[in-house]
Amino acid sequence: MTERYDVVVVGAGPAGSLTARYAAAGGARTLLIEKRQEIGSPVRCGEGIARHFLDECAIAFDKKWVAQEVSGAKVVSPNGSAFKIDERYAGNEVGLVLERDAFDKALAKDAAKAGADVWVKTSAVGLLKDDGTVTGVRVKRLEEDMNIEAGCVVAADGFESQVGRWAGIKTLMKMADITGTLQYRLTNIEPDPDFPHYCEFYLGNQVAPAGYVWVFPKDECTANVGIGVSLDRLKSKMDLKMYLDRWIEKDPRMKHAQFLDMVTGGVSTSPPIAETVRNGIAVVGDAARMIDPITGGGIGNGCRAGRILGEVLATCAETGDYSKEALQPYEKGWRAELEEPLWRNWMAKKTRRSTRSSPPSRPRT
Ligand SMILES: Cc1cc2nc3c(=O)[nH]c(=O)nc-3n(C[C@H](O)[C@H](O)[C@H](O)COP(=O)(O)OP(=O)(O)OC[C@H]3O[C@@H](n4cnc5c(N)ncnc54)[C@H](O)[C@@H]3O)c2cc1C
Repeated sequence: MTERYDVVVVGAGPAGSLTARYAAAGGARTLLIEKRQEIGSPVRCGEGIARHFLDECAIAFDKKWVAQEVSGAKVVSPNGSAFKIDERYAGNEVGLVLERDAFDKALAKDAAKAGADVWVKTSAVGLLKDDGTVTGVRVKRLEEDMNIEAGCVVAADGFESQVGRWAGIKTLMKMADITGTLQYRLTNIEPDPDFPHYCEFYLGNQVAPAGYVWVFPKDECTANVGIGVSLDRLKSKMDLKMYLDRWIEKDPRMKHAQFLDMVTGGVSTSPPIAETVRNGIAVVGDAARMIDPITGGGIGNGCRAGRILGEVLATCAETGDYSKEALQPYEKGWRAELEEPLWRNWMAKKTRRSTRSSPPSRPRT
């Protein structure tokens, strides 16, 4: 069975849903596919996002997907001294703590409202190609194998992305540019003057080597309490648990805390990939390593790049031209908005960890 669309977006995370929404709103016949049976679930995220992303991507604020509004970030240094940053200046992850499953569903609903078809339990398993140009995607929908022809396939398939690689785009990362994470949802936390009003970050090699511990409040006694450590600093995955449990034991607010869930996952802390478009394909969000290399925040950047890509795809649909040249406004557009801070933060991350005398530099592209 073969279907035909202008645009097929693989992955209904924030980047994929925004791409699908803006492509469909601009008139492209758009399909959004998601391998999981439920969009947004299970949640593998600290769920923090800065408010400005909502305005930038025209996402209408809805209390249904907001767990907690915070005043800012509280950053605690290795010697225990703390400083606070107003949420307007506190980076990609601070402002709202989301109900991420509801948020992702809301973004997919917006895409559907704009005219996109949305299929869940549908996995991309390969690409259709003609003479090096991507012409569609092979999918497994429930138990059925299908070919979907498309002017453009969008790889919005997240950290573990394969779709870009199938098209020959280099997405592999170095160990030092991957952070292993472990996060507990804890409840029965004792409030204090700062909790639950701040997203908290705890730094230091004793706490989390080349990473940090976070406490993102979900309500007055519940929080996402997680740790990220660079993979090249971990001897075993159990180290993550050891560091996090040790930190929790020392925090008096956590004395009677109880577990609601536990998740693990990888986060890229690499610079963005060198090319995000080829003939008939574009890569967006975590799949393109658009996540902030210092904080690991990627929801907002994925939304912003998705908006840019969707608008470009709508223009492509008018002419039927999805060549690498026609997709350049996306390549140039997202780089103009996001690339400089991503490289700057990657270099800052490397410099903070570097034992070499000369700081790392950005290669010429
Ligand atoms: C523990 C942890 C905590 C984090 N905390 C924060 C935070 O507080 N704030 C923040 O901004 N960021 C955070 N992040 C990062 C954030 O989750 C990502 O940057 C964000 O989800 C990226 O969005 P995306 O749309 O690019 O990818 P994703 O949200 O990963 O979406 C990709 C989608 O593609 C689907 N998919 C994959 N392969 C296929 C396939 N073959 N076929 C069909 N569908 C497929 C997946 O099921 C998934 O739904 C955290 C990450 C982790 C692991």
